[in-house]
Amino acid sequence: MDEHKIYAHVQAVARQFNAWRGTLPSLIEFIRYSMKADAPPADRLDNFLRRETTQRALIGYEVGFWRATDKTYRLVSLAVPSDPAVAQRRLNYRPLSTNQCRWCHIDERSLMSLELKPELDIHRNLVPASFLHPVCMHSWLLMRALLDRESSKSAKTKESLM
Ligand SMILES: [Zn+2]
Repeated sequence: MDEHKIYAHVQAVARQFNAWRGTLPSLIEFIRYSMKADAPPADRLDNFLRRETTQRALIGYEVGFWRATDKTYRLVSLAVPSDPAVAQRRLNYRPLSTNQCRWCHIDERSLMSLELKPELDIHRNLVPASFLHPVCMHSWLLMRALLDRESSKSAKTKESLM
């Protein structure tokens, strides 16, 4: 079983959906469909995907993959947009409900208090109505930091033009 190939296909599925929740058998179908003739048997994929080492390795592929407390799975693309305009739009967007993760927008409903953590700013103060999955938090904060850097850069350019 070529593990790198599997990671790459899980990444492709994550990017296609951006954020997905569901059962492992349905995710395995998506991955096997993506892998076509290279796909390992479903039971081997099942075994592989359940491993914590697999889930840790996927972080290196900018993929968040974990089992939630209701035993269904979450698959999230953790890729931070490189275009500042896109990043700004994502940062400005407020989900309709605070039961939704700010990064992936998955609505955790009644699981919210178990699955999502409040966002803290750099002074460790709570950001109002901003909650995220621990896995998504890193990408979110990274995107915020990138935009802060962009805006201080453009502020400096403006100063030097004066
Ligand atoms: Zn999330």
